[in-house]
Amino acid sequence: MNEQYAMTIGGQAVLAASTIEVRNPATGEFFALAPDASADDLDAAVAAATLAFPAWRDTPMADRKACLVKAAEAIEAHADELASLFVAEQGRPLAGAKMEILGAAMWLKATTMLDIPVDVTEDNDKRRIEVHHVPLGVVCGIVPWNFPVLLASWKIGPALMAGNTLVLKPSPFTPLCTLRIGALIREAFPAGVINIISGGDALGPLMTAHPGFAKISFTGSTATGRRVMETAAKDLKRITLELGGNDAAIVMPDVDVDLIAEQLFEGAFHNSAQVCVATKRLYIHADIYDQLRDRLHQLAQQLPVGDGTQQGVRFGPVQNEPQYRRVLALLEDARANGLTLLEGGAVPEQGYFIPLTLVDNPPEDSRVVVEEAFGPILPLLKFTDVDDVVTRANDTEYGLAGAVWSADIEAATAIAHRLDTGTVWINQNLQSTPFTPLAGAKQSGFGQENGLAGLLEFTRPKSIFIPKAG
Ligand code: NAD
Repeated sequence: MNEQYAMTIGGQAVLAASTIEVRNPATGEFFALAPDASADDLDAAVAAATLAFPAWRDTPMADRKACLVKAAEAIEAHADELASLFVAEQGRPLAGAKMEILGAAMWLKATTMLDIPVDVTEDNDKRRIEVHHVPLGVVCGIVPWNFPVLLASWKIGPALMAGNTLVLKPSPFTPLCTLRIGALIREAFPAGVINIISGGDALGPLMTAHPGFAKISFTGSTATGRRVMETAAKDLKRITLELGGNDAAIVMPDVDVDLIAEQLFEGAFHNSAQVCVATKRLYIHADIYDQLRDRLHQLAQQLPVGDGTQQGVRFGPVQNEPQYRRVLALLEDARANGLTLLEGGAVPEQGYFIPLTLVDNPPEDSRVVVEEAFGPILPLLKFTDVDDVVTRANDTEYGLAGAVWSADIEAATAIAHRLDTGTVWINQNLQSTPFTPLAGAKQSGFGQENGLAGLLEFTRPKSIFIPKAG
């Protein structure tokens, strides 16, 4: 196995006795090996993080922040190398890959602009009550394959800044950039503060059941999130769950179709539609339905899909074979049920490619509408009445994000307030900032990431009652 993809445990590069194969989704071919951490490797990582915790907790905040900034700078300095590796393992075209690498560095730095407050709930002649937000201990971070580096930074920054130590696990489908980042930022922290381990399907459940963790910060599917919550219940570990979505965007009849069509398209198909907050159901007012549908179909036919290393390619493959099979099964189901599919242009034959596909006004209860596709198949749904479309948009177990598109911002804002989601965008999509919480409603999540509230999820309140002299 290549040393550069070693794990980081206790500040050291560590290889495992076994390996997992990493495939390039643009070819389907295996191109690198990553460590497959054993239960002993996990124990070693938790032990290192446990040992490092007291000193890190007691390290002044300014010094902890300086370590994070140093880590961010190390990532920035290697952005080109990491972006190329990102394309090879994740599939996204180079420009988007580089944006994610730099975005992760930016996020780490931005987190250090936050401060953890001490709340004073009473201060009088007799006493002062201070609520401190103290770290939890060793945190377990688990990350999916769709934004492997950015979502890792969402855990590294706040967990470490709050004074915890961390054991982080990337997805088995995209371990390489995270392992490489581990090597690059190892020196930025005292040994054991950040540990990065990789492995196959067995590793996640081993981690969530490990008694050494005080908290699990998990990003992934709702199905896995339920399992994580069940396991965490056994010893009441704290949890944050950022899960799936089936986000609706509502397009009102007063929009300028030509102006917004490409933004709508990107909001649905960015990263080959493998975005938790992508538009996954597009509700279009009947007055503009045909015009917008045709424009979107044109874009699907024109925008190039291919190997992300090639110039001009806008969308890459589906990231892994199981996901590719799931999306193909959804397409098959749509065909079997006689739905009208509007296909995009040709895609390469090798690799996990699927043409960008629109479904023309399918029934509301079809699988392609009800399920989170997480791949390039988007149902377009017609509506005429605002109350009706709000009911349909909310009729899902998910509640991650949503969008409203209209020339009338006030009317759009009124609709936004009626959507049962953690985020709503008006005339935009896919936006998030380090200072704004991302928090799924319903079965899209539990807790939140980003912003002060996300940072405080890596702490617990500790109230101290201090008597006044005399
Ligand atoms: P997944 O749930 O299959 O895997 C996510 C991570 O959990 C991986 O690292 C995996 O190895 C690990 N894992 C698998 N089984 C586990 C178990 N039993 N216990 C502990 N860990 C386990 O999800 P995925 O397919 O990698 O990612 C796609 C999903 O993630 C989509 O549903 C998407 O919407 C969601 N997602 C949500 C957000 C958000 O912020 N809400 C962001 C990105 C992706």
